[in-house]
Amino acid sequence: MSITTVGIVGAGTMGNGIAQACAVSGVNVVMVDIAQAAVDKGIATIEKSLDRLLQKEKITEADKAAALGRIKGSTSYDALQGAQMVIEAATENHDLKNKILKQLDDLLEPDVIIATNTSSISITQLAAVTKRADKFVGMHFFNPVPMMALVEIIRGLQTSDTTHDTVKDLAVRLGKSPITVKNAPGFVVNRILVPMINEAFFVLSEGLATPEDIDAGMRLGCNHPIGPLALADMVGLDVCLAVMEVYLEQFGDSKYRPCPLLREYVAAGRLGRKTGEGVYNYAK
Ligand code: NAD
Repeated sequence: MSITTVGIVGAGTMGNGIAQACAVSGVNVVMVDIAQAAVDKGIATIEKSLDRLLQKEKITEADKAAALGRIKGSTSYDALQGAQMVIEAATENHDLKNKILKQLDDLLEPDVIIATNTSSISITQLAAVTKRADKFVGMHFFNPVPMMALVEIIRGLQTSDTTHDTVKDLAVRLGKSPITVKNAPGFVVNRILVPMINEAFFVLSEGLATPEDIDAGMRLGCNHPIGPLALADMVGLDVCLAVMEVYLEQFGDSKYRPCPLLREYVAAGRLGRKTGEGVYNYAK
């Protein structure tokens, strides 16, 4: 099955990014959120993003109009009927996702694929909420979606080959480079990335180098575009800590223990850019 219309639940950061990626690639989109204001904000964000591409001459005025013409916003889940696939990109909350997925499962025809963009919840567990575990899959986009090439396609225990292949094909049509991952906490990228950030806090707390030198070391020595401590400030120190707690709990392996200094910063309210201070100070 080739997907021509995608439903998206959630018009936030990820939902509107996924909608844009689909629409510029010729895929029709129905984007649903709980409030009209959220839908309007999502569509306005896409318009602004397309304007930037237009200024850089990456798309034409006609491309922009065509892409916007492919996006329909709604506050009613009924509008999702007719899509061959629905991507859930609502707020990261397990109970909320269970509720949404049950609602989608009851509403959509049995052959419709349901994907989730969750960063941290088990795909196998979410699939079990539905009666179509074989047609359920993780589709983990990266932020900002229109810029980032990677999509992790996460197979739950019961995801079928057909579902995997259909979603992989869609990711390629969106211009992305998908990788296939088995369900496990953190999937592949965050499983490696967040412990690396945590280790950078250990290096800092042991006084081995200044924050600037730790970040310069990883930029210049590993060709990373940004150092791990600066990245932690972007992601949010509270998010990094929460992810390490999940790994520690779910793998039961002490190698995932959060660095005490990371805990101290979070306890102090130094959460990174969003609070004006994390490892670095952004007040100036
Ligand atoms: P966000 O807060 O920007 O957007 C979430 C949207 O979901 C909001 O507009 C909210 O109104 C909407 N929503 C809440 N309940 C809903 C419901 N019942 N029905 C429809 N819409 C509803 O969040 P986000 O950053 O876009 O994250 C969305 C998902 O993507 C999460 O699962 C998150 O873990 C995942 N994710 C986020 C990132 C990131 O960097 N932000 C990266 C990868 C994956």
